[in-house]
Amino acid sequence: MSGQASPFQLTILGTSSALPTSNRYPTAQVLQVPGRFFLIDCGEGTQTQMRKYGIGFSKINHIFISHLHGDHIFGLIGLISTMSLLGRKNDLHLYSHSELQKYLTDQIQFHYSEGIPFKITWHPLNFKKEQKIYEDSKVTIYSFPLVHRIPTCGFRFDEKPVLPNLIPEKIEEYQIPIRERQRIKEGGDFTTSEGKLIPHAELALKKHEPRSFAFCSDTRYDELYIDSVRNVDLLYHEATFASDNSDLAHSTFHSTGKDAATVAQKAGVSQLIIGHFSARYKDHHTILKEAQAVFQDTIAIAEGDVIKVEKNK
Ligand SMILES: [Zn+2]
Ligand SMILES: [Zn+2]
Repeated sequence: MSGQASPFQLTILGTSSALPTSNRYPTAQVLQVPGRFFLIDCGEGTQTQMRKYGIGFSKINHIFISHLHGDHIFGLIGLISTMSLLGRKNDLHLYSHSELQKYLTDQIQFHYSEGIPFKITWHPLNFKKEQKIYEDSKVTIYSFPLVHRIPTCGFRFDEKPVLPNLIPEKIEEYQIPIRERQRIKEGGDFTTSEGKLIPHAELALKKHEPRSFAFCSDTRYDELYIDSVRNVDLLYHEATFASDNSDLAHSTFHSTGKDAATVAQKAGVSQLIIGHFSARYKDHHTILKEAQAVFQDTIAIAEGDVIKVEKNK
């Protein structure tokens, strides 16, 4: 038993780049870690997609915005308005470029002259270097600069190590006192009253390996951010174009499927998912094939996908 039953999974709400269509929404993803839900980007339609895929509005206390292009933020005012109508009281934490504060505050004031019933706490991102932006008992979150037309950050979510539980039958069998249990969880052995040494491995469940996820959108291919996503279990990287448009990808500061796969390969990640597909492609088969030729364990995401972040997949 590995103790990995606790959720660490990603729900995809939108996979399109700038143009939404009848069944494709702009970028938004929700990462669920034990006891927490983190919304990453908030393209138009995010709140309806949350309803569709069963993500409760009250569960979202932290929103991470990679950059201020419309396809990543047009859903914010609608979501905040709905949260307000539902009588939200908890603080909402927004991690973004500092200019979002004015942009969104103006909209909120326009629609709600008496204000909204909850507080927004603003956390400006650093676009020059990697930075720890959030930490609690379960997870540590970092932002890191990407390479796009305007200041853009990626995010990395690292699960914290969890001490293994002791095996109840062994506690019973050796009559392990409560005061000894924490020490054994931390790796210690146990000596019985008869002086017999019982090794830690016999007493504890297998150690839980912390999981990690990184989000890279939007960006041109660059080795600048490879260290920030090194060895993650799951990497999301935008792949707006196929290689037939590699010049366009470069000039518009976007990536091809091959670019995304090259990042995954160089960073030594376990699994790659790609999205942010340009509406010019009827399907993303070509982008996916080109990515898989470089990094085999690549999946093209679709709205409603739930992807479990797994160790050593
Ligand atoms: Zn975009
Ligand atoms: Zn963009």
